[in-house]
Amino acid sequence: MTLAHVLGYPRIGADRELKRAVEAYWHGELDRDALEAVGWELRARHWQAQRDAGLDLVTVGDFAFYDQVLNVSAMVGAVPARFAAEEEDPRGEVDLDTQFRMARGRAPTGAPAAACEMTKYFDTNYHYLVPELHAGQQFRLASTRLFDEVDEARGAGHPVKVALTGPLTWLWLGKGRDAGFDRLSLLPALLPVYGEILARLAEQGVEWVQLDEPALVQDLPLEWRNAYEFAYSSLRAAPVKLLLATYFGGLGDNLRLAASLPVDGLHIDTVRAPEQLTAVLDNLSGYKVLSVGAIDGRNVWRADLAMLHERLANARMRLGERLWLAPSCSLLHVPVDLAAEATLDEELKSWLAFARQKLDETVTLARLLGNRGTDEDRARVTAATAALDARRASPRLHRPEVAQRLAGVGDAELSRDNPYPVRALAQRRALDLPLFPTTTIGSFPQTAEIRAARRAFKNGELGHDAYEAQMRDEIADAVRRQEAYGIDMLVHGEAERNDMVEYFGEQLDGYAFTRNGWVQSYGSRCVKPPIIVGDVTRPAAMTVAWSRYAQSLTKRPMKGMLTGPVTMLQWAFVRDDQPREVTCRQIALALRDEVADLEAAGIPAIQIDEPALREGLPLRHSEWQDYLDWAVECFRLTASVARDATQIHTHMCYSEFNDIIAAIAALDADVITIETSRSNMELLDAFQDFAYPNEIGPGVYDIHSPNVPDVAWMVQLMEKAAERIPVERLWVNPDCGLKTRGWAEVEPALANMVEAARELRRRH
Ligand code: GLN
Ligand code: ZN
Repeated sequence: MTLAHVLGYPRIGADRELKRAVEAYWHGELDRDALEAVGWELRARHWQAQRDAGLDLVTVGDFAFYDQVLNVSAMVGAVPARFAAEEEDPRGEVDLDTQFRMARGRAPTGAPAAACEMTKYFDTNYHYLVPELHAGQQFRLASTRLFDEVDEARGAGHPVKVALTGPLTWLWLGKGRDAGFDRLSLLPALLPVYGEILARLAEQGVEWVQLDEPALVQDLPLEWRNAYEFAYSSLRAAPVKLLLATYFGGLGDNLRLAASLPVDGLHIDTVRAPEQLTAVLDNLSGYKVLSVGAIDGRNVWRADLAMLHERLANARMRLGERLWLAPSCSLLHVPVDLAAEATLDEELKSWLAFARQKLDETVTLARLLGNRGTDEDRARVTAATAALDARRASPRLHRPEVAQRLAGVGDAELSRDNPYPVRALAQRRALDLPLFPTTTIGSFPQTAEIRAARRAFKNGELGHDAYEAQMRDEIADAVRRQEAYGIDMLVHGEAERNDMVEYFGEQLDGYAFTRNGWVQSYGSRCVKPPIIVGDVTRPAAMTVAWSRYAQSLTKRPMKGMLTGPVTMLQWAFVRDDQPREVTCRQIALALRDEVADLEAAGIPAIQIDEPALREGLPLRHSEWQDYLDWAVECFRLTASVARDATQIHTHMCYSEFNDIIAAIAALDADVITIETSRSNMELLDAFQDFAYPNEIGPGVYDIHSPNVPDVAWMVQLMEKAAERIPVERLWVNPDCGLKTRGWAEVEPALANMVEAARELRRRH
């Protein structure tokens, strides 16, 4: 037989039950036992789903009330001192509220403290809590949750495989504050705790433990590679079988290392890196299991089972029973169940597979490879082949005019008419802005009334005209307010937008939207990424009417507001039948038309947001330049249609520019606004060192905090900025959009910001 398993299953529940329960618990509406009961119920259901689908093992350890990396931090006792209650037994169990306080700064019990940092997990849109590390840190087995879950699963009669983040990836994901601190120095102290965990699992009768080590698909320094040998040689003493799981890409130069570690099995990703299968087969010792990740765990498309069956036949021949089959990575990154999509059309549905469907795909492929295929399996293959043939031939995918237009794009479409210094003169004439001009990043508070109106509109309770009238009132209100504060370049406030990607996707052809396709983003937060199905086109202008209306209300310049092509791509499920960059170029062309229309409507400045540009960076450094080249090109394709006098802004709320500053400059936006207030303007160093040539608005107001920044503080921040960037090229603005704030804070904050700009003008 060929054993079928998954590396992990979505934990939020088909109806986001986990989100609701956890939030109710935080708000005091659900007690601890009731919360635990929901967790237990979800685990039981997800294990049962795996069994019902026919998987040979169910995976335990993928559940978390907040985050699986945080689970390991709790389990090894890596709890920063500020979260430990004085009266608590320092050797006691790290309880759930401590985890919640680490994640969010507060919980129903325990004193509030500054939350741990959260950041994106590899190149996914999932965020994990960064382990806080320091020299000399001690570890201990501090949570028995995992063992309890194993008992639960075994109690329900399931064959159990445990999944756990491996020790090196856990350290790799961690951070230490102190200069000169080396995370690897903690490995010898950490390994005994892993040893203890493995021994306990063995005592419980667990045969296989999957240690997730996706760090192995990245560029590892030599010490880290060596540490893998050291760590896994030390863990081999444990009386369980270890499956080393790698995913999100190919092993590359770590392939021999990974294949030779003293473990009992290796999992590889053959979706992102199909080419590595042969090399791994050639390097794998004769006793090891190879788990092939053949079903895409990162995207929503139905698998080509016939093709995979054929492609894996050779591996099956060489490995026999030592071949296992799985999705490429945990199914955490895809929505739960396609069957819950009542509104997607049947044709599109036949091209998709969510987590629940991917279980079936995995099982069918495994049974076919193990020569245990049933009639049902053969029927599934036939159905998949038919659906995929239909997809390839569908007119929904290809619009010849899009390909034609792309083929016609040349250098002329990728550059503005003149270089920045010439444009700056034209813009100065057109905009007549003071020194240190003030602006905001786009959105204003999404008040309860705005959200209620949108809900009513979507439910059909509020008519189109009434809804639009209300949004126009919101825009008028935003304009009045900005004029009263004295802001120089205004925005319309984005009241009409639910989400910066969905809003545009809904108006573009080639996109599809699910009802219930939620994916965990972090903690209780879920996102519903749109699906890019076919060639992207723009049937009609998307933002022009709103911006034109906003501009009609004021003499001050109004800034149009678009989401950039890279961010539109990055925050969606992208079609897998053409390179990502082609899809991105199509979006760029559609947005280019919007830029042209805004300009023609008399909008003097247009902001093209690209907050996701940096997170699109590939995991391997060697692939960065290629990505940056096409990403920059896509941005330029969108922006370059603008005439010299039209000022192009971009915005990025990312805290690292050092290594991509050349690409940022190559965007050639006239103005870039960035998030800097929390870093005390240090982020500007990269711009200074590079001699960044265009204008910059370093955020002076941390929009994540309800605190109202005072004038002196913002003046002082801008003075720091002025030490690094010539004052003629500086703007004064918040860090990001203000949609999550209330007017009560925004009003005094923006008034102070304007006052700070006036003070700066007096000084310079
Ligand atoms: N224009 C958007 C806003 O203000 C930008 C959001 C973002 O950077 N994430 O909301
Ligand atoms: Zn932002």
